[in-house]
Amino acid sequence: MNIAIIGSGPSAFYAIQCFLRENIDTNIDIYEKLPAPFGLVRYGVAPDHQKTKNIIRLFSRYLYEDKVQYFGNVEVGKDISIDLLSSFYDVLVVACGATEDRKLNIEGENYDNVYGSAEFVGWYNGNPIHSKLSPNFNYKNAIIVGNGNVALDCARILSKTKSELYQSDIMDYTLEGLSKSSIENIYIVGRRTPKEAKFTISELREMGELKDFQPTVDYDLDLLDSILSEGDIDTKIKKNIELLIDFKKASIVKKNKIIFKFLSNPLKIISENKSKSLNFTKNKIVNNKILKSDVIETIQADLIISAIGYKVFPIKGLELDPTKSFFLNNNGHIKNNIYTNGWASGASVGVIGTNKIGASIMTKKIMNEISSNKDNSRERSIEFLKNNSIKYINKEGWKIIDKIELDKALDNFTRKKLVDLEEIFGYLKN
Ligand code: NAP
Repeated sequence: MNIAIIGSGPSAFYAIQCFLRENIDTNIDIYEKLPAPFGLVRYGVAPDHQKTKNIIRLFSRYLYEDKVQYFGNVEVGKDISIDLLSSFYDVLVVACGATEDRKLNIEGENYDNVYGSAEFVGWYNGNPIHSKLSPNFNYKNAIIVGNGNVALDCARILSKTKSELYQSDIMDYTLEGLSKSSIENIYIVGRRTPKEAKFTISELREMGELKDFQPTVDYDLDLLDSILSEGDIDTKIKKNIELLIDFKKASIVKKNKIIFKFLSNPLKIISENKSKSLNFTKNKIVNNKILKSDVIETIQADLIISAIGYKVFPIKGLELDPTKSFFLNNNGHIKNNIYTNGWASGASVGVIGTNKIGASIMTKKIMNEISSNKDNSRERSIEFLKNNSIKYINKEGWKIIDKIELDKALDNFTRKKLVDLEEIFGYLKN
């Protein structure tokens, strides 16, 4: 069976794992828009979470299997159409994740130094699409909107000292930018209560382990206690609330703070006299329901990051769901011989391992529904790419780049990611 996979992150590699386990005669070709593989693991997982990034070792094993080939720097929908690719292969799997920011859709969102987390995380992780971002940290206050783990990732990277980032693969330009940071207050703002926050406990704990920043909570202690006294409270929520109470009760000993705020709905960003502020409509709890109030709160901050979830980058030829967040599909089937899994197929929630289950269900479905009858898929695709002068990186090329990145790592860091296409192709000429 000849299989093409769009994307090279967790949902793509768990699909490859499943296909390889089927023990069928197969060729699997990966089409990736960016030059380097591994998607979310390379460009989304925080650079100081190297244990999580270790999954790349497993994914590399699959990448270097004889049956698998890699076409990096090939954008499906632009360099090669969905229709053509699906005509070459028996099966086409859309597993390209959700790489675009969901928008706040408020006034002022387009001002300078206001970013979505996909851009900001992409910048500190060396995603070539976002490597030119140049955020300015020469201000006292920053706001991060959202109460998920990505908000915590952004806050941690903003607050860590250089030595706290040792053994990470953070970009050198990010270290340089952060070395000039004057940020003293990072507000992490949620629109609901601490009970609805989506932080997980180990990530929340890391906020209390920072050298120069101290977490504190701007929320009534009685209200936090009252969440704990609810009878049927989920253990994960309980742990978060207990830790937030500890943060709140601790006496302030550090100058720099991470301030958790809740019940604040972003309203508009105002830019006046070279200074920015974010206006929030305060929410209130009435009979256990969260309702809007008439109260407006303003927080002055010149760096604003919204970490409110992701949506897919549209691909010409594939329909989006009504919320425009993922590709329209019926239990993983898009149309004809095209299937999807991971964040491309539904909400952008869950951890890397969550993709295993979806990949397994999708592979079984494909095995039941598709029979193999196409030949020379890889050869036909290579011929098309060559005839259309589309430069791609195969897995042998990636092996060279991977080694160069490891060799170029600065002292105390694990890797120096290459972001410049000319430089990358320059190394592959010989
Ligand atoms: P998330 O966990 O879904 O959190 C998104 C946050 O944005 C929620 O607090 C949500 O609030 C808020 N939000 C959405 N729309 C909003 C709006 N218009 N205004 C204000 N707030 C808004 O998403 P994420 O942080 O991007 O993470 C994505 C997935 O990756 C999650 O499953 C996460 O756990 C995972 N992840 C894991 C790790 C890790 O394990 N270390 C690290 C990073 C990410 P509501 O709840 O009110 O909608």
